[in-house]
Amino acid sequence: MNSLHESWKYSILSPAVTGKPQQFVQLDAAEPAGILRKPLFGLNLLALAGRMVEAGEPAWRGKQLAEALYRQRVGALDTITTLPKPLRQRLVAEGWDVGRPRIAQVFESVDGTERYLVESAGGDGQKVETVWMPEGDGGETGDGSEADGANGEREAGKRWERATICVSSQVGCAVNCQFCLTAKLGLQRNLTAGEIAGQVVAVLERHLVEVGRDRVNLVFMGMGEPFLNYDNFMGAVRLLVEEVGLSPRRMTVSTSGIVPGIERFAREPAEVRPKLAISLNAPNDRIRSEIMPINKKWPIEAVVDAVRKVQLRPRERITFEYVLLGGVTDRVEHAVEVARLARRTGLPVKVNLIAWNPGPGIEYTMPKPEAVEAFRSTLEGEGVPVYVRRPRGRDIFAACGQLKRTVEG
Ligand code: SF4
Repeated sequence: MNSLHESWKYSILSPAVTGKPQQFVQLDAAEPAGILRKPLFGLNLLALAGRMVEAGEPAWRGKQLAEALYRQRVGALDTITTLPKPLRQRLVAEGWDVGRPRIAQVFESVDGTERYLVESAGGDGQKVETVWMPEGDGGETGDGSEADGANGEREAGKRWERATICVSSQVGCAVNCQFCLTAKLGLQRNLTAGEIAGQVVAVLERHLVEVGRDRVNLVFMGMGEPFLNYDNFMGAVRLLVEEVGLSPRRMTVSTSGIVPGIERFAREPAEVRPKLAISLNAPNDRIRSEIMPINKKWPIEAVVDAVRKVQLRPRERITFEYVLLGGVTDRVEHAVEVARLARRTGLPVKVNLIAWNPGPGIEYTMPKPEAVEAFRSTLEGEGVPVYVRRPRGRDIFAACGQLKRTVEG
């Protein structure tokens, strides 16, 4: 490797993957192999202050560290210039490192979507997927997030006005939804809070996002079921809210309907509670149990009962995510049933329709565009707010239900 390439790893993406002429993509610097370091990234302010006190330093050094890790998004301890050099050297000598997860590979879609394979620092080499969608996919429309601050005006040099980051919470998933590619992996392991928040910070840094100014939404809808890794998921949310400075009103977590998780979530204070989406996907328990076996444990009514415990903010809505499977869940009579169900909940509900995205080894078919439109207009006619999520990054397997650590593109 020559000196120009010493600190950065480059990858060549083929035109089949990028849809553009062959190009180099710059990736985050890789750690030298064989060094197992303790990551500071993932520790909150209190824990960082504790580390500093243990090191014989005043607690306020923890604040400097938090600023550097989460606001300035530094990648290496020796660049934290607010800390005296001897302290930096001592931390390195004691085995500490920034340890933020790094983007190991990038797939670019023709529509501007980017899918990343993100690797934990000094970890087991397993990668999770994170997706960047400039201009979003319409998923947050009508759920109350418009009420929040950041103005989202396009700045000179920025190619997007707003963006959505789709974040993973586990490596693989145990829930086994029949239409989902991630389910094929099974559950490999839970991600830590630092690994979940680190995906976000790595992507913010890649796109030079200015927190508080740029309009960025987070959706915890990547690989995994967040409510089956509850403590780490909420730990990541707290880091992102309290240390990184993102608003929980711009975050949505989607669950397949883990009732004990929803009940815990309902008790979270509003200052750190994201919005809630239920991955409904079927009009009734019979069809839902077929395509989502988890429904046998927690059927629709049990899920709705738990959702009723969440204290919604003004204008906030519960989202029902609904994947349309051709011939299975996309009929007009299904739409009528979904409308009835939405009314029965008594909750402010909106429905997001997602035309199913094909994946290798999954036997469903895509719904016809006429079926999607008929479903949408039926719900609308029944008075249910409904939005069709634009498919993003289908060509790079970045779309909903397609994330599976695929490197084939
Ligand atoms: S749809 Fe979500 S909950 Fe279901 S298997 Fe896929 S990742 Fe897991």
